[in-house]
Amino acid sequence: GHISMSNCARGDMSGGPHIALFPSAGMGHLMPYLRLATVLLDRCCRITLITPCPTITTAEAVAISSFLSTYPEVNDLELRLVPDNNGPDPAITDPHFFQFARISRSTHLIRPMLSSASPPLSAVISDLSAASQVAPILTDLHLPLYILFTTSVKFLPLIALLPKLLSDPSRLNPSCSDVNFPGLPPLPDHRRLAPTTADRKSRELTSKGDYKTWLESQPVDSVVYVCFGSKAPMGVAQIQELGKGLVGSGFRFLWALKMKISLVDEYDDHDEETKSENVRELLGDSVWHENGRRGMVMKSWVDQDEVLASSSIGGFVSHCGWNSVTEAMWAGVPVLAWPHRGDQRVNAQVVEESGLGVWMKEWGMGTRSGLVNGEEIGEKIGEFMRDENLRERARKIGEEARKAVDAGGSSHETITKVLKSL
Ligand code: UDP
Ligand code: UDP
Repeated sequence: GHISMSNCARGDMSGGPHIALFPSAGMGHLMPYLRLATVLLDRCCRITLITPCPTITTAEAVAISSFLSTYPEVNDLELRLVPDNNGPDPAITDPHFFQFARISRSTHLIRPMLSSASPPLSAVISDLSAASQVAPILTDLHLPLYILFTTSVKFLPLIALLPKLLSDPSRLNPSCSDVNFPGLPPLPDHRRLAPTTADRKSRELTSKGDYKTWLESQPVDSVVYVCFGSKAPMGVAQIQELGKGLVGSGFRFLWALKMKISLVDEYDDHDEETKSENVRELLGDSVWHENGRRGMVMKSWVDQDEVLASSSIGGFVSHCGWNSVTEAMWAGVPVLAWPHRGDQRVNAQVVEESGLGVWMKEWGMGTRSGLVNGEEIGEKIGEFMRDENLRERARKIGEEARKAVDAGGSSHETITKVLKSL
């Protein structure tokens, strides 16, 4: 938890507001809620956590149960999701998107949960994806709705202007990459490279050994950490090029490799032996021979917070999911931004403008958006890891992040204001 000071004896919630938190699908939409919950508990709030059930990943189920056992005072309400009688929509291939829709369809079930809460609720904080379903319920119940917006503030104008853009589809012509938003420069086109057809998603990968022990035995700032979030935006051919690039960079690496979106359950996949041959086949001998020596390829879930906190990590190659960006800021680790979709390219702008890192504006992910070759990746990672000025700027950002959550800091004060208003 990113908490620096306690105002409230644990468990003493007398008089504090009662707040319900309603997260959404996937680790990226759950972790910010668990973090906020710890902050609010520290401020003497009573917390009800509404958890959509079943979750789509083991990682979420594990995070929720370990959170609830650490904070038994939290009131846990399971939202039993309504089954989809028509079966899954074939147009939706990402299980996260399917789950967003399922949660939205089940939101009416939270009305009785909220109206019968004891003591009565003071407010509900919801993910953006279900907010339009939650809002009318809360209006009826005379409860304020807050949205925990799990992305950069810079992404807000885009979301806010979307209805207007959709009313004039000519402005959203797919061949036109320059759509202008207040506060944002036009996004550069990252589709300059030829598309690849090698996007199979079929094989299983594995890891070898204990990454924590390995990481702790590496020199300070010597390891580049590579992770593109909890999902798998990268095509197979691009994964192979990245492997070559990591070896070519000359730096040590820790790579949390996610193979495909449906493999979101690799959390406790420890079947090392049988799958190691496939990793070797996929990544090639040059990468494989580094595994456990100059590098580590982890197929299973890694504890990213802990990895970023390690003094061995000198840089982070990231897709710029907002959680990853804020975690890098907190750890003071520079980011090489390799964004993919959704809000990630806007977040990459934040990374660049804040001084936290560099943004590879023209790199696609080897799926629809073209292939970046290993040599180019190796060169850029090498330059990035050698940039001591960048590392110093990132360190300063880490210090600022700590000041923000300390008493009197901007984050601390904002939460104080919200709680006072309740
Ligand atoms: N989203 C949504 N409904 C959907 C799919 C996505 O509201 O059916 C929103 C979701 O809240 C998310 C954003 O679109 O913040 C981008 O989703 P994506 O999975 O690409 O990125 P994430 O934020 O999970 O990294
Ligand atoms: N994460 C992790 N281990 C992994 C992969 C991801 O701990 O092997 C965590 C990461 O620290 C972050 C979240 O999962 O908190 C991913 O959220 P983010 O917004 O960065 O990306 P998304 O997965 O939503 O695209």
